[in-house]
Amino acid sequence: MTTPAEGKAVVMRHDVDEKAFNALKMAQLEHELGIRATYFFRIVKQSNVPEVIRGIAALGHEIGYHYEDLALAEGDLEKAMASFEKNLAYFREYYPVRSVCMHGSSTSKFDNRLLWETRKLSDFGLVGEPYLSVDFNKVFYLTDTGYAWDGGKFATRDIVTNSFGLQFHTTQQIVACIEAGRFPEKSLILAHTLWTDSLIQWSMLHLREFLRNNFKLLAQNNKGAEKIYGRMVKMYWGK
Ligand SMILES: [Zn+2]
Repeated sequence: MTTPAEGKAVVMRHDVDEKAFNALKMAQLEHELGIRATYFFRIVKQSNVPEVIRGIAALGHEIGYHYEDLALAEGDLEKAMASFEKNLAYFREYYPVRSVCMHGSSTSKFDNRLLWETRKLSDFGLVGEPYLSVDFNKVFYLTDTGYAWDGGKFATRDIVTNSFGLQFHTTQQIVACIEAGRFPEKSLILAHTLWTDSLIQWSMLHLREFLRNNFKLLAQNNKGAEKIYGRMVKMYWGK
């Protein structure tokens, strides 16, 4: 958390969904700028790279667990609880993890947050889950889900409603809003780690996310497309 001026607070959150080495670069840059962020790691191999987790923790950032246990356990609550506990213990080998946040698992019919219907965060020595612990009418939520600051319309679960009435498309618009003194006092910013300074990777990811967003929209209204999309995602993550 960074507090640049009295009364103002920004929680900088990064979900390391994949491309873990981009996260390490991002963490180094933030470190140089004096920013302490929270990096949430998934258990899948595209995210869970020990060298990266260790490197980011060594830079003084916080490490959290980006859980998707219910989706991976195909809705089996008991199995999901056991794997949640095991995975949390695993990430605690690197850092004393106190916060967790759900991965959207957009193609699964299971909402990972259902774990909290029977258990409490404190049962696991945890203090925060952004989707449960934050009042988004008081804290402005800014997310790059969908590869744009206003890409939230493509999200299936990473959705929060707020009363701030602010919407941005480009980063320059956010900077202008901050400079004009109109940016909310308290905010939670989620930036994924798909961002890269490699033009080739950036272009490939941009194209992929563009196709993915449109496929998601199509899948919402079309069962056949939903099945194909679900299968493609499973293949990609090697599940
Ligand atoms: Zn995620």
